[in-house]
Amino acid sequence: MPAHDVLIIGAGLAGQRAALAAAEAGATVAIMSKVHPVRSHSNAAAGGINAALNPEDSWESHAFDTVKGSDYLGDQDAIEVMCREAPGEVLWLEHRGVTFHRNPEGKLGTRAFGGASAARTYYVADITGQALLHVLYEQLMKVHEQVDRYEEWFVTALVQDDAGECCGAVARSIRDGAMELFSAKAVILASGGAGQCYKPTTNALICTGDGIAQAYRIGAPLMDMEMVQYHPTTLAGNGILITEGARGEGAHLYNAEGERFMERYAPNKVELASRDVVSRAEQTEINEGRGFPDGTVALDITKVPRKRTLEALREIVNIGRDFAGVDITREPIHIRPGCHYIMGGVKTDIWGATSIPGLYAAGEVACVSVHGGNRLGANSLLDTLIFGRRSGEHAAERAQGMAMPRAAAVSLRAEQAAVDEIIRREGGRGRIRRISEIKDELGTMMNEKVAVFRDEDGLRQAHATIRRLKEEASVAAIDDRGTIFNQDVLGAIELGYMLDCAECIVIGALERRESRGAQFRLDFPQRNDDEWLKHITLSVNGGGPPTVSYSPVTMTQWEPQERTY
Ligand SMILES: Cc1cc2nc3c(=O)[nH]c(=O)nc-3n(C[C@H](O)[C@H](O)[C@H](O)COP(=O)(O)OP(=O)(O)OC[C@H]3O[C@@H](n4cnc5c(N)ncnc54)[C@H](O)[C@@H]3O)c2cc1C
Repeated sequence: MPAHDVLIIGAGLAGQRAALAAAEAGATVAIMSKVHPVRSHSNAAAGGINAALNPEDSWESHAFDTVKGSDYLGDQDAIEVMCREAPGEVLWLEHRGVTFHRNPEGKLGTRAFGGASAARTYYVADITGQALLHVLYEQLMKVHEQVDRYEEWFVTALVQDDAGECCGAVARSIRDGAMELFSAKAVILASGGAGQCYKPTTNALICTGDGIAQAYRIGAPLMDMEMVQYHPTTLAGNGILITEGARGEGAHLYNAEGERFMERYAPNKVELASRDVVSRAEQTEINEGRGFPDGTVALDITKVPRKRTLEALREIVNIGRDFAGVDITREPIHIRPGCHYIMGGVKTDIWGATSIPGLYAAGEVACVSVHGGNRLGANSLLDTLIFGRRSGEHAAERAQGMAMPRAAAVSLRAEQAAVDEIIRREGGRGRIRRISEIKDELGTMMNEKVAVFRDEDGLRQAHATIRRLKEEASVAAIDDRGTIFNQDVLGAIELGYMLDCAECIVIGALERRESRGAQFRLDFPQRNDDEWLKHITLSVNGGGPPTVSYSPVTMTQWEPQERTY
């Protein structure tokens, strides 16, 4: 049985940063990913990473913008840590080879991003995530004697010992279907977000909430799950992202009447208000009949000098041409708000520790909570790196001087039996549905009823649909019964994770009877600090809907204020 001090599940930015930190602290490390590490979803990150690095800027200003952006639901101790440590992290990346954009004086250059009071976003054209991920992967190669890489291995469950401590995981090799039990003194979940609960979404097919559901299933509470970010600029139909970098570089938004409508909603920041504010404004324009017939508004990137667009936004030039048939340097492109990011996740402290000893979480899978009700653009890459590193360090420290636990073989047998049961299911009879059909229904329904605007009726209907889909998923049949690259069986397992995540999103949204950040309740349109300035935490409750409880928001120096941009 493979055994390592620290087992990291996920090899995106959070996982790779955690692996480097744990290895540097002397631990033996395993890093595991269901896709090749550089195909992790972090690769898609476009616009950049925030840090108050300029002498005229300050970490306090970055922190205040983040607190305000979160609609005061972010935990201020965690936000302070992230913003204080941001400049050092960006320099660390630069020194390891990330080719951040430099301005004409040869200094690191920045671009403006939404909700920020200074231009503090560092970037590599509009492929920042790819640039970071490849540099971290090179660094992992250097420590190959300490870090074992399990590429194209799919974790199906976390394992606990008799005392309830997390001591490993069960995984399936995607290449040949072999199941294996891994023991570890500490496990770090870095398995990313759950955007595939929605259709369309900006998220890749692999973002199916696996780690969120796996932690939830063994009793780790989830927090802020109702807070799902809709990004203001996604292509209608396929959900592909047009980076906020476009507005950062000067693009404007117009309705079908040619009005630059953000001037009405956010007179100071206009298009660079925070994402929840811009998405709501766009959806209001569309709902009130001032959008285009395809349910969109227009993003006009021709405001940005063409040369600059071709240099700094070249990826969205390609996206516009290939996926919308539009030359964005010459004409506006139609966009709409689309599901993009989950602010909620596995509840952790500022070292990434969850409530289960031995289990850590970092990156989009986690909720530390630095984003609260709404994440500022370019704060997520930062979150993955800061809390990835911190959890790597803490997990390595825990491992020191501790004996290697032995994960019990019974967990392996149970997971093998669960996979065998899916493979044996008979299809084609009665009302038995395909996995893809159930997934489509889930995503489309979530995008209708649990989107920018929500209300009790819609949320109750959403919950009833999820309960039905859970039953259908438990008997849904697959076609591939083989062992080599059987994505069919993995799809069935992922659907179960998505349904758990979706149920938690809906229960959190029903519970929060107010409007804050990304959660806008038409039936409770005001923010209500007296009753709802608190986190909603959700815990597993057998096979039923989750148990709801609350935890306080940590305040350090910023009292809630009215939020205007
Ligand atoms: C299009 C797009 C653009 C973005 N641009 C920006 C930006 O410019 N700036 C910014 O700050 N943020 C941006 N974001 C958000 C940011 O990219 C993500 O939040 C962040 O990269 C998530 O990183 P992560 O390490 O937590 O997870 P990921 O990069 O998603 O990695 C998850 C890892 O877990 C593995 N995994 C998952 N499940 C399993 C399993 N069952 N078994 C084994 N392995 C598993 C995956 O294979 C993968 O290696 C963007 C998001 C999108 C969708």
